Amino acid sequence: MSVLVCFHAHPDDEVFGTGGVMRLAADAGHRVVLVTATDGAFGEFPDGILTDGETLAERRRTELDRSAAVLGVDRIVRLHYADSGMAGTPENANPEAFCNVDVDTAAGRLADVLLEEQADVVTIYDPNGGYGHPDHIQVHVVGKRATEIAETRYVYETTTNRDHMRRLMEANPHWGEEASPPDMETFGLPETEITTVVDVSSVIAAKRAAMEAHETQVGDFGPFLQMPIEQLTTAFGTEWFRKLRGTGGVGLTETSLPL
Ligand SMILES: [Zn+2]
Repeated sequence: MSVLVCFHAHPDDEVFGTGGVMRLAADAGHRVVLVTATDGAFGEFPDGILTDGETLAERRRTELDRSAAVLGVDRIVRLHYADSGMAGTPENANPEAFCNVDVDTAAGRLADVLLEEQADVVTIYDPNGGYGHPDHIQVHVVGKRATEIAETRYVYETTTNRDHMRRLMEANPHWGEEASPPDMETFGLPETEITTVVDVSSVIAAKRAAMEAHETQVGDFGPFLQMPIEQLTTAFGTEWFRKLRGTGGVGLTETSLPL
């Protein structure tokens, strides 16, 4: 048995970035640990979805529990940093926000988890955090430092194949209208920098169920749960990584994480 630790910024990021590799690892008998930096208190959500007096953070905690159960997670570790909000919002200035915390202190806390769990493989984010969210960029910085402290053998940056996404958007122009497409110049990484491409289509049903668990974020109001399963598989049936540390794997050569 190996131990996979996936480090994420907010509840729901675990589904989109690593939901498939977590479910596959669990199915293969490995231990799966999910670490989240923040409670996602500043996510967007539709009117009327929270009950009276309920906060978004409280709801997202429950959603994360349900998603993690579907994805085969053995343990959730919440670091309880404040959500930094989207880039350019006033929340960015909060000194308690994850994007402003002392990197070595936060990395030390994460490293303690990695050492306690004897993590074999750790996933963090690419340097732009996929799409530039301040909390996601900090996951890269803190995660990189933590894995140095813990001397983790295999470290991967969760990312998106920018060229693949561009081709998908060109082939399905209506997707952009529904899902407010990201800036393709900075989104994810170019295909040539990706080392590891994992086909997770065999567990797409679990990934969809985990999306469903995040009802304030993904819900019936968004496009993803409306997609037929074939389209969902085209969009989310592959997970991409760039190997940051570990032997082997250059340029689309790996098809699984070394668990
Ligand atoms: Zn996020």
